[in-house]
Amino acid sequence: MSDQPVPAESTERVPRKRPDQTGGPGSSQPAEPRPHDPTDAAAPIPPAEDGTERAPNPAEPPGPTELAPPRGTGDILPPESWRRQAATRLAMDSFAIAGYAPIETPIFEHTEVFERGVGAGSEVVGKEMYTFPDRGGRSLTLRPELTAPVMRAVLGHNLHRARLPVKLAYAGPMFRQERPQKGRYRQFSQVGIEAIGSMSPAIDAEVIEVGDRYLREAGVEPTLLLNSIGHLDPGCRTGYLEHLTEYLVANQSSLAPVDIERISLNPLRTFDSKESRTIEVMRRAPLITDHLCDDCRSHFEAVQSHLMKLEVSYTLDPHLVRGLDYYTRTAFEFTAGGLGSQNAVGGGGRYDGLAESLGGQHLPGIGFALGLDRILLSGFGSKDQSGPVAAYVVAIGTAAVEQALAIATRLRAAGIGADLDFLDRSVKGQMKDAARSGCRWAVIVGDEEIARNNVTLKDLSTGEQETVAFAELVSRLEP
Ligand code: AMP
Repeated sequence: MSDQPVPAESTERVPRKRPDQTGGPGSSQPAEPRPHDPTDAAAPIPPAEDGTERAPNPAEPPGPTELAPPRGTGDILPPESWRRQAATRLAMDSFAIAGYAPIETPIFEHTEVFERGVGAGSEVVGKEMYTFPDRGGRSLTLRPELTAPVMRAVLGHNLHRARLPVKLAYAGPMFRQERPQKGRYRQFSQVGIEAIGSMSPAIDAEVIEVGDRYLREAGVEPTLLLNSIGHLDPGCRTGYLEHLTEYLVANQSSLAPVDIERISLNPLRTFDSKESRTIEVMRRAPLITDHLCDDCRSHFEAVQSHLMKLEVSYTLDPHLVRGLDYYTRTAFEFTAGGLGSQNAVGGGGRYDGLAESLGGQHLPGIGFALGLDRILLSGFGSKDQSGPVAAYVVAIGTAAVEQALAIATRLRAAGIGADLDFLDRSVKGQMKDAARSGCRWAVIVGDEEIARNNVTLKDLSTGEQETVAFAELVSRLEP
């Protein structure tokens, strides 16, 4: 028996990491501008040396399969995958104790769910969606967000006719064709909750508190920015938008050119501009909070009073907006330090008009989505987190292999993570593998142990060894 080498071909087939293959969710490095990526339909095909465009030649034999994932995506490998799984589980557990039940919807939806739900005028829908026709000619879209699909599912299954509010939680991948960089990917994961069917400001505070608490449990020190954007009524946001538009038109020459078209399309979005010229203009812009109707104002005051009572600290940010019509009243964002320019870990708000824009009845709602990749980047858990395998069963001699597998199985049945060798390694090789696996214990079994009905137990962290009766092993290893 010897330490089996990994077959040569399996190492040779793994491509060297290309210097440009960064920026996926599993990567800790920022994405750099990169040469043409054949998997990226949006990337320009570089011209050939004579200056002509090079198109793929179907007559040429195909090259080796591209083993790197598409740009802006990443393979999540151990040990990083343990950390991600732990952050997801923590989220779903902390949402569950506030009554938010898990929901899963399809990864792809009919495109109109987002066009009508999120709004065709939004950046996400207009510029970033992965939309494709299926074989039946229907337009489908990989979900860029989950609020609209959750509302579609609630309406489709009449969940709102059972018990209100409908409180749901989710975790899963979203897809947006954005320019990848650190903290911004084309496939990324969100965890979030939606509370549907209540107008009460208390539920706004509950939702915000649940998000804030999870982020703190996850080791993120969030800053909570809070605003109210009123509702569509001449005495509230609609009237305010007229003032804002007048102000923007009067200051048009000072705005960055990319923001000028926003004046007519969606003037609120000028508050989201990253352009320094526009930011300067917006500093003096009229504020929505000075134009809220009485109902929206008292809702906002009640949300704040609830948050104070719950000791959730927040910063009022009258520039924080949600640029879509169905968003109403409460808008909030969690930011965190150490994330560079992508410092938003999550955001949410009220969407009292969403159900109607999907063709349903009036059904108010509020929720948030938090970016899991950014929660991990901002330091969740331990980077070398290992799995739950605590014991590695070492077989001395071929005869003990059967017993080793039986011991591992018995430990697993008792809830103790166990693993063993499957490559006919020597005892030395197995001990090395046990150390590599990150297990705390080596459970050593050979002819002698089998005859005496015991095992040798080695604590790999201290090197101490003891003999343990087979019948005692489970209770000895229980944490
Ligand atoms: P949004 O759905 O745009 O309100 O985003 C909510 C949160 O999801 C953001 O605050 C980010 O943490 C995360 N997020 C949004 N887009 C991306 C992306 N392209 N890559 C990674 N995380 C993202």
